[in-house]
Amino acid sequence: MSDLIQRFTFADLPVRGEIISLEHSFHTICDQHQYSHTLRHLLGEALAATALMADIIKIEGKVSLQLQSPSQVKLLVTECNNNGHIRGVMHPLDPDVTHYNFKGWTEGGTLAITIEPEQGHRYQGIVSLEKDSFSECLEDYFTSSEQLPTYLKLYVGKERITGIFLQAMPDSDNQGQDNKTAFEHVTTLAETITDEEALTISHHDLLFRLYHQDKVTLYDEKSIKFQCSCSRERNERALLTIEPQELIQLAEEHNGQIELVCDFCSKKEVFTQQQLAELITTNQGTGAIN
Ligand SMILES: [Zn+2]
Repeated sequence: MSDLIQRFTFADLPVRGEIISLEHSFHTICDQHQYSHTLRHLLGEALAATALMADIIKIEGKVSLQLQSPSQVKLLVTECNNNGHIRGVMHPLDPDVTHYNFKGWTEGGTLAITIEPEQGHRYQGIVSLEKDSFSECLEDYFTSSEQLPTYLKLYVGKERITGIFLQAMPDSDNQGQDNKTAFEHVTTLAETITDEEALTISHHDLLFRLYHQDKVTLYDEKSIKFQCSCSRERNERALLTIEPQELIQLAEEHNGQIELVCDFCSKKEVFTQQQLAELITTNQGTGAIN
C-alpha cells in the first residue's frame, strides 16, 4: 500500500478528492542525494503535491514545480508525468539544517508550477509564498486560479508521505450555497485525522474512517514510481549546443573526457574525446545540430 494515487467522489456531495501515498519513490529520491530527515520534509511535500497536480490536471505530459530562493532552498525541482513517473532534486544552503521552517527557508523566493503537455502550449503559474506552509501556499493558488474552494493537506513521516486534496465542484444550477456547505463538511472531517492515522493506514480505511456516512467512492489506484528522464541521447543533444572546437578543448582540459552527472538521479555519463569527435562528425554529416 504505497506509491499510489487515487481519486474519490461523494454520491451526494459536489466535492472531488484525491489521495496519495509515497514511500519507495520518496526513499529512492532522498537516498540518491543523502538528504537529511529535515530536508526530506519539504522535498516530500513537493513530490506529493507534484504527483497530485499531475493527476488533477489530467494532461498527457509533465507537471513540474520549481522553487528558488536566496534563503535555505537555493533550488527545489520536482516533476511528475502522466505515467506517474516522478523525480526531484533539492539544493540546500545548509545541508545539515536541523529545523524545518518553510517560511524562513523560502524567504524572498519564487515558486513556479509548469505544465508541459506533449502536444500544445506550455503553461506557467506563479505561486505566492506568503502562507506559513507549503500546502497552504498551493491551496491558495488553486483556490484563486481555479476560483474553486480547495483543501490540501500533506503529512510527512520518516517512511511515508500522505496527501489529501479536496476541491468543490464548479457551481451549477445556483447550488453555490450547497457546494460551499458540502466543501466545509468534508474539510472539517478531513481535519479530524491524526498524523499517525494518515501515515499508517490504507487509503480505503482512511476514507472510510472519515466519510463512512457520506457515500464515498474510491476509484482505481494509479502507481507512482521514481523514474528519471535523463539519457545519453539527451546529454549528446546538450553537448552539441557547444561549439565543436570548444567541446574538444574542454575534454582535453579534463583528462581527455567530459563527464556529465544528472542533477536528479546522479547518474554519470562519460564522453571520451574520440566519442565526442564521432558525435560532432555524425551531426555535421546530417546537419542535425539543432
Ligand atoms: Zn537522471
